[in-house]
Amino acid sequence: MTAAHRQTSPRRTAVLRREAVLATVPVAVAALLGAAGTASAGTVGTSGAGDPYFPLSGNGGYHVKHYDLTLRYDTTSRRLDGKAVLTVRATQKLTRFDLDLKGLKVTGVTVDRTAAGFRRDGQELVVTPRHTLRKDQEFRVTVTYHGTPKSVTDPDGSADGWIRTDDGAFVAGEPQGAMTWFPGNNHPKDKSSYDFTITVPKGRTAVANGVLRGQHTENGRTTFRWHQAEPMASYLATATVGKFKVEQYTTHDGIQIYNAVDAREARAAAPVLKKLPSVLEWESKLFGPYPFRAAGSIVDHAPDVGYALETQSRPLYDSAPDLSTLVHESAHQWFGDSVSLTAWKDIWLNEGFATYAEWLYSEQHGGDSAQKTFDALYARPANDGLWAFPPGDPGSGKNLFDTPVYARGAMVLHELRKTVGDQDFFRILRTWATEHRAGHGTTAQFVKLSERVSGKDLDGLFHTWLYTKGKPSKA
Ligand SMILES: [Zn+2]
Repeated sequence: MTAAHRQTSPRRTAVLRREAVLATVPVAVAALLGAAGTASAGTVGTSGAGDPYFPLSGNGGYHVKHYDLTLRYDTTSRRLDGKAVLTVRATQKLTRFDLDLKGLKVTGVTVDRTAAGFRRDGQELVVTPRHTLRKDQEFRVTVTYHGTPKSVTDPDGSADGWIRTDDGAFVAGEPQGAMTWFPGNNHPKDKSSYDFTITVPKGRTAVANGVLRGQHTENGRTTFRWHQAEPMASYLATATVGKFKVEQYTTHDGIQIYNAVDAREARAAAPVLKKLPSVLEWESKLFGPYPFRAAGSIVDHAPDVGYALETQSRPLYDSAPDLSTLVHESAHQWFGDSVSLTAWKDIWLNEGFATYAEWLYSEQHGGDSAQKTFDALYARPANDGLWAFPPGDPGSGKNLFDTPVYARGAMVLHELRKTVGDQDFFRILRTWATEHRAGHGTTAQFVKLSERVSGKDLDGLFHTWLYTKGKPSKA
């Protein structure tokens, strides 16, 4: 994500981004917890995935293999009607389990077509199937629901989830907001494939992740069918609705591009979006093959949002992005989307890497070198916000998208590069993206990989740059 300086930076590039972009982006580029309560021990799925920053995000006891979401959104009344069919595998015996869903009215829950008991408890939708589910049993949960979706306010004050716009909705779920529009296992630990069938008034376009499977119009409404085959974390799902100009083509690498652009942003966005294929090609050379079959951009006109997000296969911008932001969100397709977090504390694995991709892009396209960008940051005084906390330990969800995660996170990688040399550094990045493709990675695993590839003991480097409070003394 990029925080937006109002011309749109990456969310989770947004606020942050604002500062990071203005201050550090080279001008040239500008060209288990949950103790689910009662119930017999060991057969109740927990209400959280065990993440201390967001204790109720995600749930325990199962893995969602696939989401099939059928949505209908009325852009006048703002009403959303939804049916979610989840294909699930129990990872333990279950007499009860939770889904995450905030707001909206649930009208029915079935498990394998048999009505199940359910109740709401804050953001938890507590489901009691008629029959106990065996460990490893595969089952299907269907939830029907409706209402007016409302975004959630994150600890840093920004909104995420289903965010209404003047012509539809800007739908971005990092870190919590997926639960504002569909029930699920809302933590990046659990990745799934998705189908979306979204019906909107004729003249509006509904854009989700992956490949467009078809669209048809009848009785004044248009239905769009999207398929996301590669596993995706729930926060990266979108169903953005608006009046969009659409452009579709296939790159010579065979990637299916789908761009949806609000007319009010089209002129500013055009020269940047045109560079997407070359940016993906450049990143593929550095990081390994692009991890998805689809790509593209959603450029909305959502002036109140203040950020861009790396929604999987198709980043979402609140206004026309600059090139640096496009490079950032595109790099997230490898770092964050394909290789996902297991805990939000590791957020630098997303933002530090995407930010460093911006530095590299500048360096290799006639702008400032990464060293120059690093030096300008390092020159900041010890009381600067850049040194407020170490990127490997943001401390709470409030700091997830703050400057140290982005800028000092990128500095960690630059220090690594200087220590191991370019050849090993780029081999580390490619190996990381390849070995963890379509899966997960942790900071400990990244440190281990760096040591394995370089043959060096890197504990001191990571300790200093990733975990030590305050401005590191010159390495
Ligand atoms: Zn980002």
